[in-house]
Amino acid sequence: ERRTVVVVGAGPAGLTVGNILRAADVDCVVLETESRRFIETRPRAGVIEEWAVRGLRQRGLADSLTARAQVHSACEFRFGGERFRFDYSELTDHHHYVYPQPLLVTDLVREYADVRGGDIRFGVRDVTLHDLESDPAVSYLDPTTGERHVLHCEFVAGCDGARGVTRDAIPDGRVRIARQDHGIAWLALLAEAPPSSDCVLFGVHPNGFAGHMARSPEVTRYYLQCPPGDDPESWSHDRVWGELRERLGAAGAPPLTEGRLTEKRVLDMHDYVVEPMVFGRLFLAGDAGHLTAPIAAKGMNLALHDAFLLGDALAAHATKGDDTGLEGYSHACLRRVWDYQEFSHFLSGIYHGTASGDPFLAGTSLARLRRLFTSRAAATAFAEQYLGAAAAF
Ligand code: FAD
Repeated sequence: ERRTVVVVGAGPAGLTVGNILRAADVDCVVLETESRRFIETRPRAGVIEEWAVRGLRQRGLADSLTARAQVHSACEFRFGGERFRFDYSELTDHHHYVYPQPLLVTDLVREYADVRGGDIRFGVRDVTLHDLESDPAVSYLDPTTGERHVLHCEFVAGCDGARGVTRDAIPDGRVRIARQDHGIAWLALLAEAPPSSDCVLFGVHPNGFAGHMARSPEVTRYYLQCPPGDDPESWSHDRVWGELRERLGAAGAPPLTEGRLTEKRVLDMHDYVVEPMVFGRLFLAGDAGHLTAPIAAKGMNLALHDAFLLGDALAAHATKGDDTGLEGYSHACLRRVWDYQEFSHFLSGIYHGTASGDPFLAGTSLARLRRLFTSRAAATAFAEQYLGAAAAF
């Protein structure tokens, strides 16, 4: 079997690339190890930046999102027992959209497979990449027959996330991988409870960071900083809600609305960046090429940014023989990636300094926070980075 592009992974990056290729009539196939139902219900991100929604809209991929996403214009920091509302839209004229990742993935699969007639194969096993520098191919085991299929292609889009196989197909020494470990973890929680505030809450507390993010009128995501490798089972319902109440407590704040916890996962906070994001005919996109700990809610946005650039570049190559997009791909992605990594790192200092046990880091963390509420210039710069509006294109 021969295809122009094999896309490995049906997350936001892979499905967006697939949709762009289908719209341009480029022959492609998407391979995914999980089932359709699994990827349509996997909870993860929820915050999408304005430019990313615009990018989806321009490619005909944002109809449901536009109808259903919530628009957020402010967040609230809680520290020293007080509440500080941060109205980033007033400072920048930009806002955030809140739209759960499973809904976006559901929209993208439906558009790709059911509307644009794209080929997608779920449940594939043992995906293997071959001859990436000469005559690429991707092979996999068909789950029903147990047979190995080989797909010859011109390009491979490596969109298989942080635990995929495409990055590992690059021989040692051919790319540089920069890594950063924050030495902390977050307990990621989903609660069957309506949001407890009309905006995102960040609690910066001596016990550790706590976060509150609306996902829908019925579901709220919470985060609690915890030691790396902590056992989620050691966090009982009562312990979670007690700690959330303490870390997010502030004078005049309404009580948190409690509910059953449907997800409890410990995420070790680490980042990496693969440079360049290209090896031979393999182009990495999204978490396969770079991981940003969810501290600044940037990962899905970066995945979409890569996917727009890669989808457009592959379409330009296939339809017009124009290779400028492919040649500049890695450089263009990495500018935004490094900008977001730097912001995430800065934010990590704010969120985690007070609980570090180091009075110096606690002091600088609170100084950074106070500056947001005393200097309009500092607040505007922060808001631009928070919204992804300051990144160099
Ligand atoms: P993925 O979504 O990981 O998709 C990769 C796909 O490839 C998956 O479907 C996987 O099953 C498949 N796959 C894996 N291996 C193979 C293989 N060998 N062969 C074929 N397929 C394979 N980002 C934000 O922007 N905002 C947020 O608010 C936010 N919150 C987050 C909260 C949490 C708890 C977590 C964990 C992440 C959060 N992120 C957030 C990050 C965001 O979810 C990711 O950055 C995003 O999913 C990356 O998209 P992707 O398409 O690159 O990878």
